[in-house]
Amino acid sequence: KLSEILQQWEPDSSVTPQQPNNKIYNAADIQSALAHHELVNYYQPKVSVETGDVIGAETLVRWHHPKDGIILPDRFIRIAEENNLINDLTHQVLQQAIAQAKQWHEKGLTLRIGINVSMDNLASLDFQDFVVNLVTENGLPPQKIVLEVTESQLMGIDTRIPLEILTRLRLKRFHLSIDDFGTGHSSLSQLRDIPFNELKIDQGFVHRASEDDTLRAIYDASLAMGKQLGMDVVAEGVEDRNDWELLRQTGCDMAQGNFISKPLLPDDFPRWMEEWQNKVHT
Ligand code: C2E
Ligand code: CA
Ligand code: CA
Ligand code: CA
Repeated sequence: KLSEILQQWEPDSSVTPQQPNNKIYNAADIQSALAHHELVNYYQPKVSVETGDVIGAETLVRWHHPKDGIILPDRFIRIAEENNLINDLTHQVLQQAIAQAKQWHEKGLTLRIGINVSMDNLASLDFQDFVVNLVTENGLPPQKIVLEVTESQLMGIDTRIPLEILTRLRLKRFHLSIDDFGTGHSSLSQLRDIPFNELKIDQGFVHRASEDDTLRAIYDASLAMGKQLGMDVVAEGVEDRNDWELLRQTGCDMAQGNFISKPLLPDDFPRWMEEWQNKVHT
């Protein structure tokens, strides 16, 4: 029984190295990071709640700063967006992620790789061409690439062109995911128009939802909406056994969070996966 086996699962609780400062980075800093290829992709597993199988991984970028240590994306993504650097940034992240996906696929690890896409990336058709070419050149099936877009960005004012680009990518069989669901005020009717494959319930409504009625109500409603629209529902921010049990009891499809694994460097991923699978398949 998976739930009993996972009674013994002890996640690696070591944390990302402390950030040593509160420095505010500017456009020139980010430009330099891009020029010197200091951005490094980490990968956080997404697992099936029913079987424990590892279905995929989300790409989460970190800046390996030569002096300041490891910088998390909340400190530079928005600045990149505001300074016209997000296209370069996303291109670098995508190139790394697709090369990694190819390497894993060649080894038989046919993971779905999730990549965070900013609304600014969807402003012109160039992005579509870039992604399609990259995936074709590397011989990857597009359905193994999941483009994650946040619900709040999607509900912005002028989303006509971005939605068209997403729809074209969907027609080319890429998978689309609606991220941070529950924070962006979309409605069932709006969601019906967009061909998403996956809905990610925001971590703010997952952790402790089994103990808090308000969180639980939002979690339940999000799960129901995703299911009703035929999407795979992923719960983010699964931090402890209570969170995991809630997903199991309510029939959520997939789980992602520190209870399963923190985001990993690619070299650490296969080792983690072996350990996890030994645990869930004994
Ligand atoms: P997100 O897409 O919602 O990613 C999930 C975030 O939750 C990640 O933060 C992840 O490290 C964190 N997380 C994972 N498990 C747990 C858990 O159990 N508990 C808690 N409290 N948090 C958990 P991270 O890596 O700091 O990234 C923050 C945000 O930055 C991401 O949120 C995403 O919106 C953005 N981001 C990350 N990489 C990229 C990228 O390559 N491009 C763009 N445009 N945005 C990115
Ligand atoms: Ca995401
Ligand atoms: Ca999210
Ligand atoms: Ca988030």
